[in-house]
Amino acid sequence: MNRDDFPILKRTIHNRQLVYFDNAATTQKPQTVIEVMSRYYAHFNSNIHRGVHGLSQEATALFEETRDCVRKFINAPSNQEIIFTRGTTEAINLVASSFGKTFINEGDEILITEMEHHSNIVPWQWVCEEKEAFLKVLPFNEKGVLCMDLLDDFLTEKTKIVAVTHTSNALGTINDIKTIIDKAHAKNILVLIDGAQALSHEKIDVQALDCDFFAFSGHKMYAPMGVGVLYGKENLLNAMPPYQGGGEMVQHVSFEKTTYNELPYKFEAGTPSVGDVVGLKSAIDYIENIGIENIANYQQELLQYATKRLSQLDGIEFYGTAPHKAAIISFNLKGIHPFDVGTILDQYGIAVRTGHHCTQPIMTKFGIPGTVRASFALYNTFEEIDFFVMAVNKAKEMLAFL
Ligand code: PMP
Repeated sequence: MNRDDFPILKRTIHNRQLVYFDNAATTQKPQTVIEVMSRYYAHFNSNIHRGVHGLSQEATALFEETRDCVRKFINAPSNQEIIFTRGTTEAINLVASSFGKTFINEGDEILITEMEHHSNIVPWQWVCEEKEAFLKVLPFNEKGVLCMDLLDDFLTEKTKIVAVTHTSNALGTINDIKTIIDKAHAKNILVLIDGAQALSHEKIDVQALDCDFFAFSGHKMYAPMGVGVLYGKENLLNAMPPYQGGGEMVQHVSFEKTTYNELPYKFEAGTPSVGDVVGLKSAIDYIENIGIENIANYQQELLQYATKRLSQLDGIEFYGTAPHKAAIISFNLKGIHPFDVGTILDQYGIAVRTGHHCTQPIMTKFGIPGTVRASFALYNTFEEIDFFVMAVNKAKEMLAFL
């Protein structure tokens, strides 16, 4: 599917055709995105919002067009609710810091889950340390499915916010976030969704979900690195203090008192990564041209096929076997360190990720140092999976006797 759109896929690594299965870490960029960014720097580059000159106005228009495009893409009600960040990590830090400062008090509880990425753990730990609040952690079962039967007990009158991942980058599990949101809201608790892995395989409608915050990164959905988005409900964003101080986020500065700009600029201090933001619009256009359902269906076929083929290998152990999964497969070969498998796969030109995937608590739960993770995108093929399974088998043969 659309392989020719991605120039990097023509590369060789160690004289082998590149097989890129590290899409949960970052996706490759289509030629259209690369061209749009190059055109931006060749014809439109200027700092935004502050200039009366024509170039600045054109750059500002492109930047704001992307905001509108993102709003439509996730069906947010207003452009004021779309804040550009560097990525998911910055978006979560923004909420933890700003919301935490104002709304978390001593003795309050913040609920996360056992399958969160470090970027949805550490910022909340800081809030808890600062405010003497408690971090509670909803566990998952042996299949990598959240223990939803425990949720009611974990949502107490002290819980202020739930921060949960839409899709686990290490296990592939797609969580039932709608149920989590509804149950939390029934008790007046806010919900932040870490959507870093979500948008490449699912249509997201923040109004239908009714989430309070939704964070994602462009680079995991065919857009450049350096741009991400925080969606937040307007009333909440208005009630929260700015995250960083600097240019753009202010209305008036004097040494005695500073007043702040309106949304979304209140949360966009300093010069943003305008070229990357412009690239994000191009990536969204690219996804919409193919159709997110088509991408999702194709990736599911790759997932089913790869799971079936890998299951035929002796000594393979999967981590994350939820019935509802994204195209991410985490596994180990019995008795073999994941780094060793990854190193041999690399010799075949196959890029997989090995290690803890910034989810150390998951690895601790399984009692393993890490996993080998293969994650698929719209340009991967069944032939690549065949080659990959052959190479995993070779790795097994080579390493079994060491
Ligand atoms: N959450 C999840 C589930 C992720 O997969 C990632 C990226 N691996 C992040 C958060 C952090 O995203 P970024 O590094 O783009 O800020």
